[in-house]
Amino acid sequence: MKNKVIIITGAGMGLGYSAAKELASKGANLVLVDYNEKSLIDTKNEIEKDFPEVKIITVLADVSSEEAVKNYVDEAVKTFGRIDGLYNNAGIEGKQASITEYDINIFKKVIDINLMGVYYGMRYVIPVMQKQKFGRIVNVASVGGIRGVLNQTAYVASKHAVSGMTKNAALEFGRDGILTNAIAPGAILTPMVAEAFKQVNPTDPKAAETEYAQRNPTKRLGQPEEVAKLVAFLLSEDNGYISGQTIAIDGGESNIY
Ligand code: NAD
Repeated sequence: MKNKVIIITGAGMGLGYSAAKELASKGANLVLVDYNEKSLIDTKNEIEKDFPEVKIITVLADVSSEEAVKNYVDEAVKTFGRIDGLYNNAGIEGKQASITEYDINIFKKVIDINLMGVYYGMRYVIPVMQKQKFGRIVNVASVGGIRGVLNQTAYVASKHAVSGMTKNAALEFGRDGILTNAIAPGAILTPMVAEAFKQVNPTDPKAAETEYAQRNPTKRLGQPEEVAKLVAFLLSEDNGYISGQTIAIDGGESNIY
């Protein structure tokens, strides 16, 4: 990854933050994007402390805004002159409710961020990669992009769409040296998942977490660092021929029915 230029959306915490650290440790220069200014700056400062040789810029952006996405792509090109990888990671879970009770405005927000945000990212990054005849894209789906998840209809709809768009990007731009894949994490212990356990059991979220972990073949949740290693591989030249796949990283849980 030395001197590669990688954009990471949702870099302020969770999976994005972990990937930023992993990629910096491999020598990549980073464009960190988030809509939470404080966590974005904290991430940059922490990584610069550990990896001073790596060049990092931050761009404040809400990925559901087409203009904001266009701007982070422009900033990346202005600073580095190229974009080798896009980690299209920013996303939200929405609220847990059945289809008939789901708040329509929250549904639309989940679609705007999880689906449109990923689409805008590919739309504006791919032309840069086409000129270079090289690029790697990792879109973040979920096990909810492979199967249903009770009471998470907007999330599941958005993540199936991410998986579908990933297949199309692979078909349309493989000839330009651009490989596009999605990852489908199971429950990985990040702030987003901690919040989900609070919704499941507001009085004792830790109990909800322990119960959930028991369903997994490994009897534990995943760690963000484990996902970061897969992402770093998919964004690197070591991945020469994997494209259009949605790769589960879930301890085997999606095989249980
Ligand atoms: P998180 O909430 O811990 O972190 C998400 C980061 O993205 C935050 O820094 C947040 O500020 C940022 N973000 C959210 N919406 C944004 C927007 N509109 N514009 C810019 N930045 C935005 O979440 P996480 O667990 O790290 O999840 C990251 C991605 O992984 C999401 O797409 C999520 O759906 C997916 N995912 C996570 C898990 C898991 O178990 N953690 C499982 C499957 C999929």
